[in-house]
Amino acid sequence: MSGDLLVDGFGRRHRDLRVSVTDRCPLRCVYCVPASGAPLMPSAHLLSADEIVRVVRVAVRMGVTRVRLTGGEPLLRPDVVEIVAGIAALPDAPRLSMTTSGVGLDRLAGRLAEAGLERVNVSLDTVDPARYRQVTRRGCLDQVLDGLSAARAAGLRPIKLNAVLVRGLNDADAVPLLDFALGHGYELRFIEQMPLDGGRVWRRESMVTADEILDRLGQTWTLTPVPERGPAPAARWLVDGGPGTVGIVAAVTAPFCGACERLRLTADGQVRSCLFSTVEHDLRGMLRRGATDAALVRALLGCVRAKPSGHEIDAPGFVQPARQMSAIGG
Ligand code: SAM
Repeated sequence: MSGDLLVDGFGRRHRDLRVSVTDRCPLRCVYCVPASGAPLMPSAHLLSADEIVRVVRVAVRMGVTRVRLTGGEPLLRPDVVEIVAGIAALPDAPRLSMTTSGVGLDRLAGRLAEAGLERVNVSLDTVDPARYRQVTRRGCLDQVLDGLSAARAAGLRPIKLNAVLVRGLNDADAVPLLDFALGHGYELRFIEQMPLDGGRVWRRESMVTADEILDRLGQTWTLTPVPERGPAPAARWLVDGGPGTVGIVAAVTAPFCGACERLRLTADGQVRSCLFSTVEHDLRGMLRRGATDAALVRALLGCVRAKPSGHEIDAPGFVQPARQMSAIGG
């Protein structure tokens, strides 16, 4: 089988696979999970490490070149190092990264790097300890800072920070966050809050837009757009001429669906072509019924070929998907 098979009806080539390895998370971020937590998938539905690696192997043979592990919190998977090692050992192994809250990274960064993880995105919405607790409802900022130091010591590069701003909660943190990121050599990206939370609390008015973020940062730094963006979700700016940069993922106010090359595998084995998909393709059932690789190829092709042109959050008929972010994998 040759690569570059994952082409949709709009000519988009899918090279990026986001793999959620669990829907469990120790945090309860206000824009993601309700205070009471989210309904969890039955453990028996979670794909095993072997099942995950098998799907990735097939996807890589079809043209996927980048894999990001996510969740839920991927570091909660007891076999996360084994999953990383399994993917890294594949023929034509993809570039391998992880999105994590950073909780537990202090213990695991070294083993993950040895197993083949190249880089991490750590979610950090504020550098104020009290506010970190408010945003995450239960997290401890020091654990994340220890995780970041461990990631650096383990050689994971680049280290990116993901921040979501919520009006009236942490919107004043944009400048301190960028200050922190520049001072430590981390690449900060703000993500517009999306209607994907379990509590359905998203309101357009409480979302801090890309324009507002640029405005705030522009009062402290000179921001110059970085022209070449490619398929990356974040538009980037040089800060005071560089080398430091800041990115903004304006998923709501400036969608980048036309260049999207991402597919998503949920922890319970459903493949989706978009965060906002309302349609899923059940690979878990296929894997457990003994599907051949050829059948998995057909299922992945079916998913890609049915991918809509865009997510249409702004369209009047937009329907929030039943799954919340923590059950899809951000
Ligand atoms: N637990 C890991 C973490 O904290 O990064 C990985 C999963 S988390 C769902 C992945 C990313 O999604 C995080 O950066 C988080 O901030 C972001 N996220 C969660 N809910 C979101 C929402 N409603 N809108 C935008 N980003 C969101």
